[in-house]
Amino acid sequence: MAAGEMSDRYLQISADEIKALEREYLFPTYQRYDLCLSHGDGAYLFDLEGRRYLDFLAGIAVNSLGYNHPRISRVLREQGERLIHSSNLLYHPYQGQLAKRLATMSGMARAFFTNSGTEAMEAAMKIARAQARKLGHENKSRFLCIKNSFHGRTFGALSLTSQEKYQAPFRPLLADVETITELTLTALEQAFDDRVCALVLEPIQGEAGVRPVPGEFLLAARRLCDRHAALLILDEIQTGFARTGRPFAFQHYHVQPDLLTIAKAIAGGFPLGAVLGSESVAGSLKPGEHGTTFGGGPLACRLGLEVLDIIEEEGLAEKAAELGDYLIGSLRGLQSRHPSILDVRGLGLMVGAELGSIAPEVVKRLLKQGVIANAAHQSVLRLLPPLTISRSQIDEFIGALDRVLKEMNL
Ligand SMILES: *Cc1c(COP(=O)(O)O)cnc(C)c1O
Repeated sequence: MAAGEMSDRYLQISADEIKALEREYLFPTYQRYDLCLSHGDGAYLFDLEGRRYLDFLAGIAVNSLGYNHPRISRVLREQGERLIHSSNLLYHPYQGQLAKRLATMSGMARAFFTNSGTEAMEAAMKIARAQARKLGHENKSRFLCIKNSFHGRTFGALSLTSQEKYQAPFRPLLADVETITELTLTALEQAFDDRVCALVLEPIQGEAGVRPVPGEFLLAARRLCDRHAALLILDEIQTGFARTGRPFAFQHYHVQPDLLTIAKAIAGGFPLGAVLGSESVAGSLKPGEHGTTFGGGPLACRLGLEVLDIIEEEGLAEKAAELGDYLIGSLRGLQSRHPSILDVRGLGLMVGAELGSIAPEVVKRLLKQGVIANAAHQSVLRLLPPLTISRSQIDEFIGALDRVLKEMNL
């Protein structure tokens, strides 16, 4: 039982009552798993009845350090008692220090802090427009994105999210956005002209089902952005912070972006995001042209600093690389016995197993086996375990998946 649980009067409620409240009082935007959480510990989550679940989702790549990491809990307690929020009208000790650490880690120069990934994308889009304007290009307003992208749910980020199911109900979206539908160099070249202010992409598409963008496509994107004075925006909201075996996924390639959006794992589960920019875009935004009330607060930034320390000191990038190879190897072993696994792909501990239309059913049955996973794009079993996972926990997952596929006669 988690500390303090008995003293919390809001925990005197059953799973059925919780579900009834949400049915009545929430906008019905989420299709939740049939699981009501009490607490977490390491790579495990526990429901209200005390049942244990192995977590291969990690809060969608957020809880990379697992649950209840003692150093995160301590910082939460200590900084929580010192200063939680201050606004961006005042200085506090941590925002500048975190910006410097992120710059060192990424090769970028400057940061603007936000509360979420989608807000980091919005900031990146405004910087791209402001930079074009600053260079005196009046008509340089077009954004390029690629098919099946996911960059967030606000109108700007949604406009760059080229998936019908997310966009259709909300049109008209931002004008001046073009989707590159084929990941070929020809298609990329044809989409570019001098009216493009930025091209945005995820080095590995997450919501699309763990789809890596080919290295030569990334290199060509860099070249064409340079040729047309456009910014290359890499969205590493999901792939960042050692998930793929390097601090950032772009570091697997010889590409440096102009803008890098990050969030998810950055603050150990506390909401924080940022857009990082190269020195060449440092002068794009003038004081007052962008801002946020919460972004980059003292508690969030102090947690971010602790997360970066832990990633370094525990060697989590190296661990993700090694355990990712082990997970991919184990899945390929399973694939030789289960032809229903059509493809296994990924980098580090961002792994996808292509299952086709059975993926959502597999996720449901895994939950019954005590394993939490996710179906991306309705067809890919997406695996994002905490980076602190062990080999024996990976074996535990593979055993559960093996049982589920057998049970479904696949
Ligand atoms: C999650 C995600 C976002 C959106 O982040 P939020 O924090 O949910 O706003 C954007 N891009 C990518 C690649 C993501 O995975």
